[in-house]
Amino acid sequence: MEEMIENNGNAMPILNEEAQESGPILKVEHLKKYFPIKRNFFGKPVAFLHAVDDVSFSVMPGTAIGVVGESGCGKTTLGRTILRLYDVDGGDVFFEGAEISKLKKKDLRKYRTDIQLIFQDPYSSLPPRMTVGAIIAEAVKVHHIVPKNEVHDYVLDVMKQCGLQPQYYDRYPHEFSGGQRQRICIARALAVKPKLVICDEPVSALDVSIQAQIINLLKELQETMGLTYVFISHDLSVVKYITDQIMVMYLGNVMELGKTEDIFSHPLHPYTQALFSAVPIPDPDAKMNRIILEGDIPSPANPPKGCKFHTRCSKCMNVCRMIQPTYLEAEENHFVACHLYNEEIMADLGKYDAMYEEECRIQAEKEAEENARKHRKGGKQQDGAASGLPQSGPPQDGTNDVQDGSEEKEEEG
Ligand code: SF4
Repeated sequence: MEEMIENNGNAMPILNEEAQESGPILKVEHLKKYFPIKRNFFGKPVAFLHAVDDVSFSVMPGTAIGVVGESGCGKTTLGRTILRLYDVDGGDVFFEGAEISKLKKKDLRKYRTDIQLIFQDPYSSLPPRMTVGAIIAEAVKVHHIVPKNEVHDYVLDVMKQCGLQPQYYDRYPHEFSGGQRQRICIARALAVKPKLVICDEPVSALDVSIQAQIINLLKELQETMGLTYVFISHDLSVVKYITDQIMVMYLGNVMELGKTEDIFSHPLHPYTQALFSAVPIPDPDAKMNRIILEGDIPSPANPPKGCKFHTRCSKCMNVCRMIQPTYLEAEENHFVACHLYNEEIMADLGKYDAMYEEECRIQAEKEAEENARKHRKGGKQQDGAASGLPQSGPPQDGTNDVQDGSEEKEEEG
């Protein structure tokens, strides 16, 4: 089944009707986050970096969505914008049906406990002068999660759930290893009884053996507490283990969205194919068909026209250089932004080739005209210099007078 979801040149993948009826816990629609990179004389921004550009997805309660992509694709910015650590520049974020993207900071307070963030770096995300108990208890007290006299026992209970010994309560973060610190971060996030946890690369700073412990802990807590995760990572093996669906991002856009097993078994988008071809197969006889992407990721401040991936795509066609692909449900609950799956475009490639040739011809003419104009301007300046005409500076009459006078004197002599 192939169904066009939105023809805005941008992302609008949604879950199936059945999923929508039971209500997603998080729904993101056309979310945008632009950072100003250049301002004019009056301080008004005139150029922007498109970190998150029209991203849409939804997550069902008790499930996990993985957000993957190369560094700089906008994964972390997406997580922080959902949390409102960054202001939203466009689009909407719905949490349990309530729109939170336009709420004022003070109105956001009641959602602060429902959505929590686990940071990438457990070393810098813990205050060094507070004990573990105080770190975990701080938000519990601020948000009145339990009565004051029960805070101590409650914190010990949360610590136990996260695999932290009770004697750690009075110790400081520097006394712990990376894995233990990440457990403290997880305990701090879970102490306020969140419903949604945004995990921003939670294991990338840890050793492989510790990574497995933390991932198992997160999975266990998800089952016991019914948590929903937005799991941001570039480690595809980890994402495969913990998520139910995967969203692939490139230059701030969603390239592909689908169930984890579908994305791993048959990725559709050429970018996803390249990304997933690098996942190691635990079978010595299996042959790896690694697809190497050439070139660097373009600047999000000046993304390429048409498909943002066209500068690195081995299947690039002329239409890709002109028109941004729309989102298609290429298979059930499997969305992709690529012209290769758009039957209408693929049936009319000849037309787009002709359009592209025409565009190139017009562009070449414009460039030739511009070069000729520059050449003429340069030629005039050279002529002016050669003929001795004044180019700049004060009038030369006086100088000429002096010269004339000296010539006259020579003649007289
Ligand atoms: S739209 Fe074209 S350039 Fe973009 S991924 Fe598909 S084939 Fe490649």
